[in-house]
Amino acid sequence: MKIAKEFSWEMGHRLPFHNGKCKHLHGHSYKCMVELTGDPDSNGMVMDYFDVKKIIAPIIDELDHSFMVSRNDKEVIEMLDKLNSRKVVVDFESTAENICLYLLNKVKSSNIPDNVKAIKVRVFETENTYAEDEIIF
Ligand SMILES: [Zn+2]
Repeated sequence: MKIAKEFSWEMGHRLPFHNGKCKHLHGHSYKCMVELTGDPDSNGMVMDYFDVKKIIAPIIDELDHSFMVSRNDKEVIEMLDKLNSRKVVVDFESTAENICLYLLNKVKSSNIPDNVKAIKVRVFETENTYAEDEIIF
């Protein structure tokens, strides 16, 4: 059985290595779908949606209306500090693929019940592009 819940947030970023428009400062209305696969418990639930939200919402709240910046992007970090603007400093370039892995790892290391056998995260950078990965326990 699989259950899923969708989350969304607004976030700025840039990809300094990119040869096209993505090297510029810009943002997206991100969306992610978190899917949990497992056997339903004795109450008939893979996991309570309320508990799913309790785990994911704080992770998303940290990203919402912030700027995700790679630790190597010193100029942007300096600018964000000067502006006293929200930032999330990460050890990777903020591609959809890397944001997907970031979220998947955060979810994996939270309090997921034993009956959940797989977690899948799909990150939509735009309405028609996504990156997806899955951890199977
Ligand atoms: Zn972008």
